[in-house]
Amino acid sequence: MTQHIFVTGGVVSSLGKGLTSASIGMLLERRGLTVRMQKLDPYINVDPGTMSPYQHGEVYVLDDGSETDLDLGHYERFTSSPLNRDSNYTTGQIYQTVIEKERRGEYLGGTVQVVPHITDEIKRCIRKLASPDVDVVITELGGTVGDIEGLPFLEAIRQIPLDVGKENCLFIHLTLVPYLKAAREAKTKPTQHSVQQLREIGIQPDILICRTERAIGREHTDKIALFCNVEKRAVIEEIDKEYSIYEVPVGLVEHQLDELIVEKLNMTAGPLELDDYHDLVHRIRNPRHEAKIAVVGKYIDHRDAYKSIYESLDHAGFQHSTRIIVKRIESEELERQGADALLAGIDGILVPGGFGMRGIEGKIQAVQYARENNIPFFGICLGMQCAVVEFARNVMHLNDANSSEFERDTQHPVICLLDEQEGVVAKGGTMRLGAQPCLLAEGSRSAEAYNSSEVNERHRHRYEFNCEYREKFIHAGMTPVGTSPDGTLVEVVEIPDHPWFVAVQYHPEFRSQPNNPHPLFTGFVGAALNIRQHHSRRLVR
Ligand code: GLN
Repeated sequence: MTQHIFVTGGVVSSLGKGLTSASIGMLLERRGLTVRMQKLDPYINVDPGTMSPYQHGEVYVLDDGSETDLDLGHYERFTSSPLNRDSNYTTGQIYQTVIEKERRGEYLGGTVQVVPHITDEIKRCIRKLASPDVDVVITELGGTVGDIEGLPFLEAIRQIPLDVGKENCLFIHLTLVPYLKAAREAKTKPTQHSVQQLREIGIQPDILICRTERAIGREHTDKIALFCNVEKRAVIEEIDKEYSIYEVPVGLVEHQLDELIVEKLNMTAGPLELDDYHDLVHRIRNPRHEAKIAVVGKYIDHRDAYKSIYESLDHAGFQHSTRIIVKRIESEELERQGADALLAGIDGILVPGGFGMRGIEGKIQAVQYARENNIPFFGICLGMQCAVVEFARNVMHLNDANSSEFERDTQHPVICLLDEQEGVVAKGGTMRLGAQPCLLAEGSRSAEAYNSSEVNERHRHRYEFNCEYREKFIHAGMTPVGTSPDGTLVEVVEIPDHPWFVAVQYHPEFRSQPNNPHPLFTGFVGAALNIRQHHSRRLVR
């Protein structure tokens, strides 16, 4: 029998529900249980693919090409739960399915209503993940208790214990316990109100996780327990972590959360295996080096817009015992101030993915600076396309080279629309998406980093390297070293005559884990460290 854990949040958003859910998944896996992770998002978009990163942060892409919420990135970084289309549902998807069924006449003349039709569809999506070989399904509910659009989801999870048995369900609620400086006190009232709202809906949380900036103490947690009708030991404080998000699971173990869950769900689980993870946390807390990496993008002021990139840089840093200092540079700012002003003293430059014209020239200037000053460069998706345009303009002297995304009638469309995209007008879910194989040339830096000549990486784009220019690029010193197996699509370019210049059409950041960093990120950070050491030796002399 598969058990269900539901994670809800209250008081405010951005409490780290995704991170906590992922940490719980990890702890249960490390007790030998098989876990499936799922996120339900109450917004009406069918998926986040059509949304600006300013709304909900980056769009996270899975192997099967689904465009999902960034919390799924946490799930993949913390657990080995396989994710697919069933791992992220939105109100839009739920309604779409119900309306399609109605159009097919499947409701046999009935009035289609939120309860039971929408709630039944939500329950079907949750129960889909349960199977004989799965011990626990962890379902995280996006948004905050009290949001109008979250109500059908809360109603659905309220009903699940009636279907599968109360003893097989566990409700975990995350809240905020703010510290009021003026009163010199932690305040439990918002938590009480949030739980009250849940109980009005008919959900009694079994465990409360209280996010706090500083320790709140037994006195307060006992009070929360009493007012919220939760066992004292099931009120757990989760204090902000000093070094890294990867400390979260360790903090939860200190409060025996894994044991509490196993006990409450009456599961048989093995002992907690955390030795290697403690090693990782030790390395994170005690770095021996530092490297300064510039990330030059468009959504720089939004912390979550390049979430997986920042995490992957950190993972590579853990591997090299290096603290990564990221300098986030707005590409339009670079256009205003110039590359010298913003990039001097940087050990590595990364240009991430993106869409649209704004800030493109700044990204191209960043590439030029990296290429001309022998600074390790890593281009990802749009970053690769900018690298190709820069090289065409400044090395091959095709002055007006561009991507046809930005200048439809450019004389030299070195980046052009993928053939399969001709005539595609609908925006949602229509890009080249998901995992695709790629062959790497022997002896290339990439093949060396991966230690393999065949890799599989996730994509999300409409434009590609224009193969009509292929020979000219090779001749001028930029080599397409990775292609689709049939050789028609260029996936990786390198400049062999540069300390480390690798640009990829795909998104390696979706395949990096803290204890298993992505080889290209490891290679990039390693090259940045070399440059840094080289520079400091020169200074000493
Ligand atoms: N805008 C570019 C394209 O569609 C790059 C996309 C991306 O960086 N994800 O091809």
